[in-house]
Amino acid sequence: MSKSYKITVIRGDGIGPEIVDEAIKVLDAVSHLHDFELQYDDALMGGIAYDITGEPLPKETIEKSKNCDAILFGAIGGEQWDSLPRELRPETGLLALRKALGVYANLRPVKVYDELINASTLKPEIIKGVDLVVVRELIGGLYFGEPKGREGDKAFNTMVYTVSEVRRIAHVAFQTAMKRGKKVCSVDKANVLDVSQLWRETVEEVAKEYPEVSLSHMYVDNTAMQLIRDPKQFDVILTGNIFGDILSDEASMLSGSIGLLPSASIGDKFGLYEPIHGSAPDIAGQGIANPIATISSASMMLRHALGEEDAADCIDWAISQSLKDGFRTKDMSQYDAKEVCSTSEIGSIIANYIGNCKK
Ligand code: NAD
Repeated sequence: MSKSYKITVIRGDGIGPEIVDEAIKVLDAVSHLHDFELQYDDALMGGIAYDITGEPLPKETIEKSKNCDAILFGAIGGEQWDSLPRELRPETGLLALRKALGVYANLRPVKVYDELINASTLKPEIIKGVDLVVVRELIGGLYFGEPKGREGDKAFNTMVYTVSEVRRIAHVAFQTAMKRGKKVCSVDKANVLDVSQLWRETVEEVAKEYPEVSLSHMYVDNTAMQLIRDPKQFDVILTGNIFGDILSDEASMLSGSIGLLPSASIGDKFGLYEPIHGSAPDIAGQGIANPIATISSASMMLRHALGEEDAADCIDWAISQSLKDGFRTKDMSQYDAKEVCSTSEIGSIIANYIGNCKK
């Protein structure tokens, strides 16, 4: 093998271990074919980490995550940990890991597979050909701003952004647009919020460095509507933490199943690759979870973190080929399925297609 990469693997809770296993199956197939080696190192996070170590994000996991080429992550959380104090909950572990790694940009591509066009609740003519990316600021804004807390019968959070925080996420959006349709729509609430006015001014400044990219601005409430009315108008949507959280979930439903969509959380040094969905405790352990979002996240990892573009293309091709040939997990079984498969069967089918993708 000419090249070798170190991957920290965080399986997490619920369906996390099942879907990550399938992504590794596909990664092994593609790395073999493309002549590179992946060395996996397991790390704990979430509920399982709390059960074993007493904390949702052990220091060892932060260390391992900082000493690798990329992190592949499943999902965390579950009812059994919901009653823990906030600092011990699985979700706190994930927020803390993102902060520790400085992964300030969350990229969520939304692509509608032609084979699953009927899986969306929207009409086929509205969603056919949708291909957009939400670029969400991840470690600032309302979820992290100070002061926050409770005083008597009052509770408060603060939305804060600095110029440098907006600049760096705007650069990610413009650079993403340069590799795609060269359009950025920056989403804010500048008619009401001071923080959005600063956001807008800063994005306009950054835009001057990318003359080939066309920039538009849209209020968040209008964007929520436009995503349903005419999603094809968007190429790259750039937005802050809370608006991005909500809009990216809305955008994900254009594709029909939450089990299909990948994401990347990246910073200047590190990258965390994970499906957009949670740990789905309601279906954990049944072998019916859709692993495609995680397999697709593994493809993003190869492309963005390791520069293995051909191998990433190969995974993307194998996923669409499996859908074209009618293989579906239960969540997609009503949409032109020729065969309903288990989590592990879908992983094996996609891994098997990999052998054909160099042709
Ligand atoms: P969820 O995304 O886990 O599940 C929502 C619904 O989608 C469920 O019906 C589930 O069965 C289904 N679903 C999700 N992924 C699927 C897949 N791959 N294949 C088939 N069906 C799938 O969201 P939730 O139910 O609100 O949250 C469950 C737990 O996950 C909570 O503890 C929550 O805090 C946590 N969570 C974690 C993350 C993360 O790890 N990044 C993100 C969101 C939620």
